[in-house]
Amino acid sequence: MIYVKDANNNYNWDEVSPGGNITEGGTSLQINTGDWRIYIPKFFESECIQCMLCFPVCADSAIPVNKDGKREDFDFKHCKGCGVCYKVCPKIDKAITWEQEDK
Ligand code: SF4
Ligand code: SF4
Repeated sequence: MIYVKDANNNYNWDEVSPGGNITEGGTSLQINTGDWRIYIPKFFESECIQCMLCFPVCADSAIPVNKDGKREDFDFKHCKGCGVCYKVCPKIDKAITWEQEDK
């Protein structure tokens, strides 16, 4: 049986823990949720006013904030492409743009 802490892309559905139980904290960092994405936000730092409306609404903590309290570029390993950050941004289509991702 495979628990989330040991998860990778090389196991079968019937090898995971019963009910997909998550038995440890902090495991989201280990799962590449960016694989699900079909739309992608893009960040343009020069247009960003650092209002920080996008950071708290992110579905998966995919908007890093540095030690100076400023947001940085998206963490595309974890960004699911939900579009919430794009919708809340007061500089929509300038600081954050939105497009279908080529895969
Ligand atoms: S698109 Fe969704 S998951 Fe990706 S950074 Fe924006 S809010 Fe977070
Ligand atoms: S919501 Fe838009 S303007 Fe505000 S911090 Fe995020 S990217 Fe920058």
